[in-house]
Amino acid sequence: MFMQSPPVERLLESLRRLPGVGRKSAERYALHLLTLPPEISEEFSAALIAARRAIGWCPLCKNLTDIMPCAICQDPKRDCTTICVVERPTAVLAIEKGGGYRGLYHVLHGVINPLEGIGPEALQIDTLIERVQKNDVKEVIIATNTTAEGEVTALYLAKRMAEFGIQATRIAHGVPMGGGLEYADDVTLLRALEGRLPL
Ligand SMILES: [Zn+2]
Repeated sequence: MFMQSPPVERLLESLRRLPGVGRKSAERYALHLLTLPPEISEEFSAALIAARRAIGWCPLCKNLTDIMPCAICQDPKRDCTTICVVERPTAVLAIEKGGGYRGLYHVLHGVINPLEGIGPEALQIDTLIERVQKNDVKEVIIATNTTAEGEVTALYLAKRMAEFGIQATRIAHGVPMGGGLEYADDVTLLRALEGRLPL
């Protein structure tokens, strides 16, 4: 069967790296892509390669960006004494959509997860510490998700920030426990940021 041929297996494997895509969805997407006219499938892969090459990590906040440093880090109107720490670039998008936050960000690219062998050294924590040491940062808002791993990471960060005399606060009201920040609505997120508490 053609679905077992090595090139199709490779495509299925690639599609399964997408969030929420299991074996069945991967097969459905693969079949769809293979049924499209060749020029459309080729444009699909060319667009993916071009976008991937154009986007990298901001050298300062580690968010995804097409300019270095990113537009937020370069914006002179942003309050550079406040850094909001998030797990993923999706959380920056969610908070920016609300429009009420005027500080900077730092993207960890994950959370501490001992069960999966992810320790602090695997995350963008050293780069955060470097930033708070080099710059006049007064407050670090920890906006990791309210999952068990997000809480462990928040406590770890608060302890590290205390070593450098930096006040760490945690987003509070409204963000559902066990939830991802990207699923909260704009108002809930803004309230959570405004209602942050010292850790
Ligand atoms: Zn940046």
